[in-house]
Amino acid sequence: MERLLRNFFLFLSKNRLFTKLAKKYGLRFGAGKFVAGVSVPDAVDTIKQLNNQGMSVTIDHLGEFIDSESEAREAADGCIEAIKAIAEHHLDSQLSLKLTSMGLDISEELVMENMKRILDVAEEKEVFVTLDMEDFDRCSQTIDIFKKLRQDYEHIGTVLQSYLYRTVEDIEELNDYNPNLRLVKGAYKESPKVAFPDKSDVDENLKKIIRIHLLNGNYTAVASHDDKIIEYTKELVKKENISTDQFEFQMLYGIRVERQKELVQEGYKMRVYVPYGNDWYGYFMRRLAERPANVAFVLKGVFGK
Ligand SMILES: Cc1cc2nc3c(=O)[nH]c(=O)nc-3n(C[C@H](O)[C@H](O)[C@H](O)COP(=O)(O)OP(=O)(O)OC[C@H]3O[C@@H](n4cnc5c(N)ncnc54)[C@H](O)[C@@H]3O)c2cc1C
Repeated sequence: MERLLRNFFLFLSKNRLFTKLAKKYGLRFGAGKFVAGVSVPDAVDTIKQLNNQGMSVTIDHLGEFIDSESEAREAADGCIEAIKAIAEHHLDSQLSLKLTSMGLDISEELVMENMKRILDVAEEKEVFVTLDMEDFDRCSQTIDIFKKLRQDYEHIGTVLQSYLYRTVEDIEELNDYNPNLRLVKGAYKESPKVAFPDKSDVDENLKKIIRIHLLNGNYTAVASHDDKIIEYTKELVKKENISTDQFEFQMLYGIRVERQKELVQEGYKMRVYVPYGNDWYGYFMRRLAERPANVAFVLKGVFGK
């Protein structure tokens, strides 16, 4: 049943009509639990609150399924606005973005133009930018673009997903770039031809890549709500004498909030991924796919309290 619901929400997440309607009608159906608001000032308020609780943030200007060059340029402008707001308000925040929102499905030239505009400002303001990882079809392109940009920019990282068979090879190959990587299980529906169908394999592979990346001496963001992964990381860094400067935990805004606070109290660096913007629909559906129990929040949003 859980798998069925997961597939259903992942199917819905790709619906372009619903994506368009959601943009038009603003945050609905309890999405406010996972999305900080639709504008930069909304996001700034949320970042301040989290910073005051001892948490770092990565802010995500939501956007996917861009159809035109002008939409992609607008999305890049939105990212630049966010970086400037982070610097102006002296916030402890990075920026995350998706390359499809920069025009990946239109042309690589357009993506490079948009990314260079963003990274020029990011380097100047010293704000770190992470390229989120999307579905398998975009994985090679995302890694190739990361490699190209990494040659000219310091403030850039990306994400690898443990559900893909290719990831162990990718992490070893990327080692030459000393990358700051966020390591996750993976949020998209993928074929068993490219991704482990069994959750236990995905979990084990996440432990494996966390270990490889940390022991290679690279900065590692362990982005998971899974206590088993968090405990594994804590034990590994203790055993291998890895400094708390070399890694951080990351979780999504609105998910396991008490656990986030506990990790801060225990002295770990905790970064919260805070999405904002009017393109919230796909993100929201993927969160429901991860945990159909969250559907209760949606029902409350639809039918009142
Ligand atoms: C900061 C961050 C950035 C991410 N970036 C990307 C990315 O760029 N690309 C990508 O493909 N994926 C990304 N993801 C999503 C990731 O791939 C997983 O889909 C997601 O984190 C769920 O996996 P999990 O490791 O939390 O463990 P799971 O095995 O899914 O969950 C473990 C436990 O965590 C709790 N939990 C998990 N999800 C929820 C929820 N929605 N609500 C309440 N409790 C929950 C439950 O107790 C559950 O038993 C990101 C995740 C995080 C935290």
